[in-house]
Amino acid sequence: MTLPFPPPRDPSTLSLLDKLRLWLHGCMPVGEHQKPGWKGPLTYYYFVCPDCGPAYDYKHGYRGRLDCPTCDYRFYVGYLG
Ligand SMILES: [Zn+2]
Repeated sequence: MTLPFPPPRDPSTLSLLDKLRLWLHGCMPVGEHQKPGWKGPLTYYYFVCPDCGPAYDYKHGYRGRLDCPTCDYRFYVGYLG
């Protein structure tokens, strides 16, 4: 399946399996995207900011940190992916 990018932010478009994965892990990979100048594509993750709602980001740092693009919320993917 090819994901559109940026991915849709509407949680209602998630499949039941995706919602389950999101509930279990707090985030889920939604596809890869390569920005101009990058050496390769990065996997983007869907997660839900408790303040802002659905958001997407790629992992930062060795702990796999996802940043909410709107506020200071941080989600740590850790061992996932
Ligand atoms: Zn937020």
